[in-house]
Amino acid sequence: MVKTRMAPSPTGEYHIGHIRTVLYNYAFAKKNNGKFVIRIEDTDRERFVEGASDRILQVIKDYGFSWDEGPSFQSQRLEIYKKHALELIEKGNAYYCFCSEERLTKLREDQKAKGMPSTKYDKKCLLLSKDEVKSNLNEGLKYVIRLNVKPNEVIKWKDEVFGEIEINSNDLDDQVLLKSDGFPTYHLAVVVDDHLMEITHVIRGNDWIPSTPKHVLLYKYFGWELPVYIHLPNLKEAGENKKLSKRFGAVFATEFLEQGYLPEAVTNFLMFLGWNPGTEKEIYSMEEFINDFIVSKIHKTDLVVFDRDKLSWFNGYYIRNMPTIDLLKALREWSNKYSVDLGVEELGEKYVLKTLELVKERMKTLGEFIPLTSYFFRKPTVLADLLKKHAQGEEVKILESYTKLFESLKVWEKVELENKSHEILERSGFKPKQAFMTLRVAVSGTEATPPLFDTLEVLGKEEVLQRLKTALKLLER
Ligand code: GLU
Repeated sequence: MVKTRMAPSPTGEYHIGHIRTVLYNYAFAKKNNGKFVIRIEDTDRERFVEGASDRILQVIKDYGFSWDEGPSFQSQRLEIYKKHALELIEKGNAYYCFCSEERLTKLREDQKAKGMPSTKYDKKCLLLSKDEVKSNLNEGLKYVIRLNVKPNEVIKWKDEVFGEIEINSNDLDDQVLLKSDGFPTYHLAVVVDDHLMEITHVIRGNDWIPSTPKHVLLYKYFGWELPVYIHLPNLKEAGENKKLSKRFGAVFATEFLEQGYLPEAVTNFLMFLGWNPGTEKEIYSMEEFINDFIVSKIHKTDLVVFDRDKLSWFNGYYIRNMPTIDLLKALREWSNKYSVDLGVEELGEKYVLKTLELVKERMKTLGEFIPLTSYFFRKPTVLADLLKKHAQGEEVKILESYTKLFESLKVWEKVELENKSHEILERSGFKPKQAFMTLRVAVSGTEATPPLFDTLEVLGKEEVLQRLKTALKLLER
């Protein structure tokens, strides 16, 4: 059975790139009727961040994913790693190392001074006799367990994306497997767990390629079968050659949700960061993605562009195409979750729905609802200069004519409003743009609103008349 896993380290907040990797693991498992596993790799006690595991699990759920096994925590499995490290010692593939920090630092410095491209442990402790090791352990000396990398071995594996990768073992250090605090390093724990949990496919960012030879060697020394490796391109900013950066906007997975991106829009966008169906199809439900996702279509490249404009496009698409009633629900949930005041209280559900119906075409995020609709819920601040700019000296006349017209109307709906408003143009000689922009500014305070007559209809007769009156007063001053 196919089994994939996501193995977060709770050393900080989850990045959006992690969600892309969750997505691919999840889809691959589902596509193959397999299982998706979550495992928390909390073995680095120095970089451990309190609460990060819970937040990571939560954000994975917030993006709509669930898992079939886990979460397991490596910190609760220390005995298992130790047992396996000892097994490698038995086989001569690992050894105790009692070297002090001082010695290791000096060793590194000496090697650097000699111009060695990378520093390596010199295997001093490999020479200790069994008795020496025993007496050191009895004395309670601090130790680590190191991998015993044999010289001149060819280490190779076939990556499903990057093809055959091969390195010489001379380029590898005798990696620490078990630390002096009794915790395993990532390398030991990841291999032991992927094996014991029967992970068949390891799908992760290609920044893990340099670690893979160590894992391949461990599988060999344990005598275990390798999983299939699928390394994915990492994400970068458009026009840059670096990873995502705060300077360009959100980076953490939660930030996007907080800013009002819809999980399904973000995941749709993420599907294309490293994969493409080879067709024009862009809008994908999760089900369709699971269906179409194949490893041979994963991009063989180091970095893919995280195009923030494209993400906005996807989000706008999902917002526009959501039934307004559902969109309102999403909006309310979002505002509750992130304590954002929508500013719509008092005016009733129906009214809010109407405004949402009008502005959803223009919303790129949920948050944009607020600035786009504020004048529907509160009296706008109108600038006399803006009225004058558009009315070109006719502002009072325009506003007075429309006040009169609107007062006389029995039916307040957009077709009627539009027809009658055009009739006035013919009689008075105002140009359409001149008159309608003046009206728009007078009722909304802005130059950009949904179609004017829709806006007037939603605002209602009384409110529109009040606002025209206020604007006229403003011009008297
Ligand atoms: N714990 C590692 C991480 O933080 C997992 C890497 C892997 O997938 O092997 O990403």
